Amino acid sequence: MAMTSRVAVVGAGISGLATAHELRCAGVEAVVLEAGDRAGGKIDSTRIGGVSVDTGPDGFVARDTAAAQLCRRLGLGSELVSPASRGAFVWVNGRLRPLPARSVLGVPWTADALRGTGIVSQAAANRLAVGLAQSTDPLPGDASVGEALRPRVGDEVFERLIDPLLGGINAGSADEMSIEACAPRLYEAVRTAGPLGAALEQVAASQGGDGHPRSPPPVFQSVRGGVTRIVDALADELGDTVSLSTPVQSLRRAASSGDRRWRMTTADGDVDADGVVLACPAWEAARLLEPLAPEAAEILGEIEYSDVVMAVFAIPSARLTRPLDGSGFLVPRNQGLLTTACSWASAKWRHYHHDDLAVLRVSAGRTDDRRWLDLSEDDLITTLASELAETSMISAPDATQRRFEVRITPWLRSLPQYRPGHRQRVAAVDACLAAETPGLVATGAALRGVGLPACIHAARQAATAVTGST
Ligand SMILES: Cc1cc2nc3c(=O)[nH]c(=O)nc-3n(C[C@H](O)[C@H](O)[C@H](O)COP(=O)(O)OP(=O)(O)OC[C@H]3O[C@@H](n4cnc5c(N)ncnc54)[C@H](O)[C@@H]3O)c2cc1C
Repeated sequence: MAMTSRVAVVGAGISGLATAHELRCAGVEAVVLEAGDRAGGKIDSTRIGGVSVDTGPDGFVARDTAAAQLCRRLGLGSELVSPASRGAFVWVNGRLRPLPARSVLGVPWTADALRGTGIVSQAAANRLAVGLAQSTDPLPGDASVGEALRPRVGDEVFERLIDPLLGGINAGSADEMSIEACAPRLYEAVRTAGPLGAALEQVAASQGGDGHPRSPPPVFQSVRGGVTRIVDALADELGDTVSLSTPVQSLRRAASSGDRRWRMTTADGDVDADGVVLACPAWEAARLLEPLAPEAAEILGEIEYSDVVMAVFAIPSARLTRPLDGSGFLVPRNQGLLTTACSWASAKWRHYHHDDLAVLRVSAGRTDDRRWLDLSEDDLITTLASELAETSMISAPDATQRRFEVRITPWLRSLPQYRPGHRQRVAAVDACLAAETPGLVATGAALRGVGLPACIHAARQAATAVTGST
C-alpha cells in the first residue's frame, strides 16, 4: 500500500487540528487550510469581568477518554479539571427543581426518584413506574428518541427530562433525534430484553457516571482556564502548517493523467496533497464533493444544523438572588422561556471563580425554536436578563437596570442534527468516498459525534484512514 506523504486538512476546528496532530505524530506532513481568521471553529472564548470564558464548549464528557488523552499528549494532563459543583436543576412550573441524581440521560430507573420533586405529576410518576417495570419488545433498530422512549416512560417524563437534556446538548428536538447516534446508552437499554428500569440501572452500572452510587466518577472534565487551551496548544504545535483565512474554494484531482494527487484551489493559489481530510461542516464538504462524489455530497448536504446563541453574563455576586448550589439548570420547551439552559459557570468550574462576580452561560435556540434570530442584540439581552429574574437568579430591577456585563456570541449553523438512520448514512458516505475518491476522507462533528471526545476520536480514525487509503 502506498504511503501518503502529504495530507491537506480542510478546516481548523477541533476535528481538523486533532487530525493534523495525529498525522504529525505518525510522521506524515499535514497542512491545515482554515477559512476563518482563527483556529478552533466552535471553540472560542470571550473576556468578561477580567476572566476568559468559553463561549462554545466549556468541557467534555469524561466517559470517552479521547479528549483527556489528547490533552495529556499536548502537555495539558496536569491541567485537566472536574466540575467543582454537582447536581443540576430543571425549570418546571415556575420553580427550579433538582434533577434526579441517578439517571441515564434524564431517565431515572426508579419512579420514586421523581416523586415529590415537582418535576412531573403524581400520575406521570405512576406511569413511569409501570413503564420501568414492564418488559416491552426490544427496539429492533434505530428510531427517534421520542418514538423509542415516549411509549416506555410517558410524555411528561419525556418532555421534562429527556428532551431538555438531549435537546439542550444538541439544540434539537428529541422527537427527531436518532436514539442510536444521540443517546447510545438509552439505545442499549431499550434493546435489552426485560424491564426497562433494570436495563437502565445495568447500563449505568456498566459504564459508570450519572450519579451511580458509591463515589461516581466525574461525568465532565475541562482544562483549567477553558477548552480554548486545547486549541492554543494544538495551534502552537502545528505552527505555520495551519493557514488561516484560506478557504478551500474547490477540490479536484491534480491535472496530469494518472496523477492521484489532489488539488485544492484557494485565493492564495493551489495546494496539492496526496490525501485530503475534509474536517469542515457538512454543507461545505457537500459543496466541495458535489462534482466528485455526488451521492456522498447529497447525504452530507441534507444534514440539518441548528442556530444557537450563547450569552455570557458577569453579575456582581452580591446581587444574585439565589446560591449557585449546582452546575445550572435546563428549561423544557413548554415552560415558556427563550432560555434553553443556564450554566452556573463560575460555580461549575473553579477557573471561572471570581471573588466578586458570578459568571453564567445562558443558551437559547433549537432547530424548532428560532425566535432569538428575530431579536436585535439589545432585545435578546433584555429578554434573557428578564428570564434570569423570572428564574430567581437576579432581581427584576437589576435585570431592567442591567446591573451586569454580558457578551453575546451567535453560533449560526453550529450543531448538526442526527436523524434516525444517521449511522447508516455515514457508512454510505464512507463507502462512497472509498469507492469514488480514494485518498479523501470526511470527518467532523456532523458525522461520528458532536462532542469534543467524539470529534477527536473520529479525527484519529480519519488520520489512519487517509494515510492508508492512497
Ligand atoms: C454553543 C456550543 C456549545 C457546545 N458545548 C459543548 C460542550 O460543552 N462539550 C462538547 O463536547 N461539545 C460542545 N459543543 C460541540 C462542539 O463544540 C462541536 O461539535 C465541535 O467543536 C465541532 O468541531 P469541528 O472541528 O468538527 O467543526 P467546527 O468547529 O465547525 O470547525 C470546522 C472548521 O472548518 C472551517 N471551514 C469551513 N469551510 C471551510 C472551507 N471551505 N475551507 C477551509 N475551512 C473551512 C470553519 O471555518 C471551521 O473553523 C458545543 C457547540 C456549541 C456551538
